[in-house]
Amino acid sequence: MTAESPARAPEWLSAGAPHVWRPYCQMKTAPPPLPVAATRGSRLVLADGRELVDGIASWWTACHGYNHPHIAAAVREQLERMPHVMFGGLAHEPASRLARRLADLLPGDLNHAFFAESGSVSVEIAMKMALQFHINRGEHGRTRFLSFRGGYHGDTLATMTVCDPEEGMHSLFSGVMPSQVIADLPVDAASEAVLEALLVERGGEIAAIVTEPLVQGAGGMLFHDPEVLRRLRRTADRHGVLLIFDEIFTGFGRTGSLFAMEAAGIEPDIVTLSKALTGGTLPLSVAVASTRVFQAFWSDDAGAALMHGPTYMANPLACAAANASLDLFEDGAWRADVARVSAALAQGLEPLRGAPGVVDVRVLGAIGVVEFAAPVAVGALCQAFAAEGAWIRPMGKTVYLAPAFNTPDADLAVLTSAMRRVLGAGGVEGSGGV
Ligand SMILES: *Cc1c(COP(=O)(O)O)cnc(C)c1O
Repeated sequence: MTAESPARAPEWLSAGAPHVWRPYCQMKTAPPPLPVAATRGSRLVLADGRELVDGIASWWTACHGYNHPHIAAAVREQLERMPHVMFGGLAHEPASRLARRLADLLPGDLNHAFFAESGSVSVEIAMKMALQFHINRGEHGRTRFLSFRGGYHGDTLATMTVCDPEEGMHSLFSGVMPSQVIADLPVDAASEAVLEALLVERGGEIAAIVTEPLVQGAGGMLFHDPEVLRRLRRTADRHGVLLIFDEIFTGFGRTGSLFAMEAAGIEPDIVTLSKALTGGTLPLSVAVASTRVFQAFWSDDAGAALMHGPTYMANPLACAAANASLDLFEDGAWRADVARVSAALAQGLEPLRGAPGVVDVRVLGAIGVVEFAAPVAVGALCQAFAAEGAWIRPMGKTVYLAPAFNTPDADLAVLTSAMRRVLGAGGVEGSGGV
């Protein structure tokens, strides 16, 4: 079966198409989505029986591959026992255990887990914690956030304000929400001085600095040195500003350490986690605060409490999946797998350096990036990759791989050879997209 002669679409796809509004999609012109009937390991099984190797692990979630038996068993067992209870006034073992394990795994005293269902919401919670941290301590002028060009922190209204104002997918909405302070990451002494000057001027308005450590993901898969994070920690401390690390993409092994912050040897005041938290099975996110942040809410005054509580907060099924995923991390095999994937991506993508339109090829951990000078034609490229047996969905100017850590060597070869065949010839420019 080739892209030129697709099998007839299944009935459910055409019946649902007029009613399903798809993500990041011009519904009128986008090619129809690929119908997926099942998943297996590193593969998507399409409705017509074709299998595609998944190069991006369903938006970076399925880090152990699909349908991992250990996670599936944990979710099934939890489903029988108790799929959900509200978290207000009630407690359950999967959330207690997960909070304790996250506190053990995270460096420093990031010990206080506040659960939610999506990454964006956890970033909103971290932002709200930071604002109220200062209010609870009697400092009322810190109402803004400082974030960075190239950053991405979600699609909800408040998180849009801390995304890259241009590259982000939200430039249409400038002026709708309060504008934040956007700076360049302090990648060298000169940009550190610029940031310092900005904070000398406006530091008293800033509640927190928000950034993705080591890799700015959806903003372009941009890498930076761990020293940048140490500079941010020093700058935040000098100006009494909190530091929020959004590890929703980088957390759980993707960059080679369990958390990207470990490469810098420093900790933020709040970290957000989601995407790979449940190994790609159920939606769950968490904002984990340091003891200092938590202490600012610990009071005899009911008004000092964090007034937040998503309905499906700490959903037991999702917490059971996350605990099972952490079991898989605990045996440590992922480290060798990430190193193996990293080497395969580096070797397999290197020939694209110098290909038409390509401005950079870079690899960090289980992330391999081919960056173009201009936005690429996302829909057409997806179709071309699918014809090569790969599911790869470019983003803006970058075509990248972020596969499951246990993707077999032969499947990694399918991914990198699809990249070389489709991108090597050039002619990939288009209208962009995500
Ligand atoms: C994906 C992502 C988010 C948003 O998470 P959702 O679950 O899509 O709301 C926020 N920050 C980073 C770094 C992300 O990669």
